[in-house]
Amino acid sequence: MRWEAGDLAVEVLFSQRGVATQVLVRAGPSWFLLDAGDGALRDLLSRGYDPRRLCGLFLTHGHADHMAGLYGILGFLRAEGRRGELLIGYPAGCREIRQALQGFQACYGEGIPFAITELALRDGDTVRLPEGLELLAKGVLHWDSIQGEPLSPAPALGYRLSFQGRSVAITGDSAWCPALEELLRGTDLALIEASLDEDGREMERIHLTLSQARRLSQLAKAAFLIHRPDGRTLRID
Ligand SMILES: [Zn+2]
Repeated sequence: MRWEAGDLAVEVLFSQRGVATQVLVRAGPSWFLLDAGDGALRDLLSRGYDPRRLCGLFLTHGHADHMAGLYGILGFLRAEGRRGELLIGYPAGCREIRQALQGFQACYGEGIPFAITELALRDGDTVRLPEGLELLAKGVLHWDSIQGEPLSPAPALGYRLSFQGRSVAITGDSAWCPALEELLRGTDLALIEASLDEDGREMERIHLTLSQARRLSQLAKAAFLIHRPDGRTLRID
């Protein structure tokens, strides 16, 4: 599923609850991946996108379906001899992503031909990126869980990217919280998780229902409802 406005292009490469989400954002010459679940590298390559062109990855939280593809991308970039800087943004306090990066660096150390710049982000942080692109991080409500049983809060962020007067926002995984409205209001494109078909316990701390996601989509000019159980992205104009 693709969306374009001017020099800003957004493509949902894949998104299915519990499996993976990866979204490619191209802002002029600057390419970013929002989340990198299983198969992120394969999804880029199979569509003809050269992963070496990525300036950075911004990961919403540490659950495997949002970050399990990170290691594969790093390994590919190393093997291909990519140079320069690679930004990796993630929620401050996220153990899973920190440890994956630490593991990669511990294994290869000086043998990594590019520089990894880690950005441990907190609610309200803004990052100035190449080509006048700006990123805002917004803390959202998402708990770690097993079989829908909430265990503990997970550091989780939504992101808004602004470029040449246009903006795209992604909720990451989040139950309903006021931050979602602030994140999505007035954006040109909203990528909203809609993991649940029905109301239930998970909607309190873990995920949005389809009807909650549809309501939130009204805050944006256009929206994709992603991270559905069946892997189908729904477009709302
Ligand atoms: Zn999650």
